[in-house]
Amino acid sequence: LAEVLKKPDWIRVKAASGNSRFNEIKKILRENELVTVCEEASCPNIGECFGKGTATFMIMGDKCTRRCPFCDVGHGRPDPLDQKEPANLARTIAALKLNYVVITSVDRDDLRDGGAMHYVDCISQSRGLSPSTRIEVLVPDFRGRLDKALDIFAEYAPNGLPDVMNHNLETVPRLYKEARPGADYLHSLKLLKDFKERFPHIPTKSGLMVGLGETDEEILEVMRDMREHNIDMLTIGQYLAPSGHHLPVRRYVHPDVFKMFEERAYAMGFSHAAVGAMVRSSYHADQQAHGAGVV
Ligand code: SF4
Ligand code: SF4
Repeated sequence: LAEVLKKPDWIRVKAASGNSRFNEIKKILRENELVTVCEEASCPNIGECFGKGTATFMIMGDKCTRRCPFCDVGHGRPDPLDQKEPANLARTIAALKLNYVVITSVDRDDLRDGGAMHYVDCISQSRGLSPSTRIEVLVPDFRGRLDKALDIFAEYAPNGLPDVMNHNLETVPRLYKEARPGADYLHSLKLLKDFKERFPHIPTKSGLMVGLGETDEEILEVMRDMREHNIDMLTIGQYLAPSGHHLPVRRYVHPDVFKMFEERAYAMGFSHAAVGAMVRSSYHADQQAHGAGVV
């Protein structure tokens, strides 16, 4: 049995209840049958994010065609795409008057475009009803269909384009085989670089977890690779195993080390770095986008 590390006292989970905006959002989500990562992943920041009008939606179903052993999403044969989902999502974002939304999804290796057209539909319909809401997408890697996916984004520009393009590298290349089977480090970097080449005005963003067995130096190397691939924004957070069946936490990174990563990130030229134990890919995403000077 893997040794279970004791959680240090800087890992704190804030209570989410007692906030009226939070309760209102939950009610509208249920009425529209939409899934948020905030709830599904029991995100520790949910009270704060919902309270500020930020939420992360998960589209294209709850069954992933990949099996990353750190991830709590279910896998298996996905259901056909719900053609009503883009309209439902757009209506919900408008009803909730959200300021900033992140749209993410499972990996859909079963779809010929990896789900790119569905993303574009969700973005453009949401823009139609909520023109001032900022939209970030956190996309799968579109492996084997990258050019097709980028062509689709280009074809439906500008309304189908996000305000921020996010794709997480998740971990260091040495741990890909164990932690991201089915993914490829260089491919993921290329996705962000190619997107930036085609749409230079849109900030790109990527995130890493620490605690899977990587070293600090390996994290710094990935950060350098990110800058070499023109990635603008960075998130780094502590991995917390969702259960005893997931990859174990191999270390808890000290706040001083997070501080060091943050300082190095700005020195390397990232326009924004959200770095800290409880940081998640979409944590304070609204401030990250503003910090980047995005129009
Ligand atoms: Fe949702 Fe992201 Fe905020 Fe967590 S950090 S509550 S997933 S928006
Ligand atoms: Fe989870 Fe994404 Fe891996 Fe699917 S591809 S198992 S959603 S991390």
